[in-house]
Amino acid sequence: MINDNFWQGILLKLSFRPEKKRSGPTRAGVGGAMNVNITHADLVRSLVKDGDAIAGELTGNDAHLLHMAVGVSTEAGELLDAVKKATIYRKPIDCENIIEELGDIEFYLEGIRQAFAITRETVLFANIAKLRRRYHEGRFTNEQAQARADKSPLFQQCPNCKQQGADCVCGGLR
Ligand SMILES: [Mg+2]
Repeated sequence: MINDNFWQGILLKLSFRPEKKRSGPTRAGVGGAMNVNITHADLVRSLVKDGDAIAGELTGNDAHLLHMAVGVSTEAGELLDAVKKATIYRKPIDCENIIEELGDIEFYLEGIRQAFAITRETVLFANIAKLRRRYHEGRFTNEQAQARADKSPLFQQCPNCKQQGADCVCGGLR
C-alpha cells in the first residue's frame, strides 16, 4: 500500500544539498572542475551557454535547421504516442494517424536535406551502404550489431588524403 511515508522516503532519496542564498557562484564559474562542494544547480549555471550569446550568433540558416530538427523530434514524439496508444493502451491502430505523422516527419527531414542540398536518394544510398557493411551476411545478428563493422577504419574516409579505408596512404586513419 502506497502512503505518505512512501512518498516521504522517495523525496528524501532525491534530496541533494539544499540550495542556499549566497553570493556565488555565478555563470562566471564555480571555482574549477574539481570543486566538489557545489550543487547541481550551480554546475548548470556555470556550464550552460548564455541564451543571448546563442541568439546573437544565430543565422537565418541556423534558425531554419533548428526549426526542422525540432520538428523531426516533435513529430517523432507524436508518432511514438500513436504507437503507444495501440501497443500499451490496446486501442485499435490508427493507420491514418501513423501515415500523417510519418508524413510530418518527412516534411521536416526534407527541410533539412534542402538546407544541405542533399537528396533523399543520397541519404537512402548512404544508409543502404552502411547497413551492407554492418550486416555483411545480409541478415541481422547481435554480433554484427555490436561489432558495427561500418565504423571500422577500413570503411572510413581519411580526413587528410580523403582516400577510403585501405587506400589511405598518409596514415590519417591510424
Ligand atoms: Mg504531427
